[in-house]
Amino acid sequence: MQLVRQMRPSSGNRVWRGIATVLLLGVLGTACGTEERPAAQGGGPGAHGRQGEPGAEARQAPPRTASGALAAYVERFRRTQAARAVAARRWGLKRTPLLPPAPPAVKPKITFRKGFEVGDPSLPPVFTTVPTRDRIVFLTIDDGAEKDPELLRMMTELGIPYSAFLSDYVVKDDYAYFARMRDRGVALHNHTLNHRYMPALDYDEQRREICGQQDTLEKRFGTRPTLFRPPYGNYDADTLRAARSCGIKAVPLWSAEVFPDRMEWREWDRDLHPGDIVLSHFRGRGDWKGSMADMVRRAMDTITARGYAVARLEDYV
Ligand SMILES: [Zn+2]
Repeated sequence: MQLVRQMRPSSGNRVWRGIATVLLLGVLGTACGTEERPAAQGGGPGAHGRQGEPGAEARQAPPRTASGALAAYVERFRRTQAARAVAARRWGLKRTPLLPPAPPAVKPKITFRKGFEVGDPSLPPVFTTVPTRDRIVFLTIDDGAEKDPELLRMMTELGIPYSAFLSDYVVKDDYAYFARMRDRGVALHNHTLNHRYMPALDYDEQRREICGQQDTLEKRFGTRPTLFRPPYGNYDADTLRAARSCGIKAVPLWSAEVFPDRMEWREWDRDLHPGDIVLSHFRGRGDWKGSMADMVRRAMDTITARGYAVARLEDYV
């Protein structure tokens, strides 16, 4: 049952889960109203922990012996979501973002999207949607030109996970901004050194762009990511071979793109689907009609209105 799975106390104790479920149903009234789900992922003001799992404290199983502790556990969930609701209002969201389920114990097997193959299925798969039945999507932000401190605060207070795909040529004038982002639990991934059009480069040039960014990310942020997104979403077989040789395991593209004033859709139905990856960019008012915060508002209002929660890409890929 959805509610139990979302809570997934680390003890894994079935009896305790049953008790917790009954108690939660009693306290929260409805298990179907996603708006009122217990905060498996909170992250309201004062919440600690890594971005994307700011409910970690609340998610810990309480002592099994005392019913008082159990009630306190439920109360923590309720308070965390209440804090998120306050943050959502403060940041001008139309509705409180929905809570994603607990991450899967085993990550789904990801393969090439049909039509995106390059003839060798053993290469890192290129995909736009993560296979899942949950009503979740993933938010990814590319390049790195705009370094808006408001974005960091907003996402932390709302407890919304996202992933950054960084290109060094726009990041290098302020590595500290992205170090702060990393410290808030955001995973930093590879989007090449110079944002070149990959298919125009030979294998060695592509490898320099991708491996060079792996080296830079490791030097500056202490991370060597396994995810890579080619600039403009353009690639060829050499791109994927080069990426694999640099330690890349998967190549997530996107199925929708969000701007401050609109969404653009890859799919004919102009809608979200479970597991869809949503793209945006680090851009400011000079580049588009609004701020990073405006972009997040557009994204979250669209995602929440369609009944989706934002989950953490690295929990699934
Ligand atoms: Zn880009």
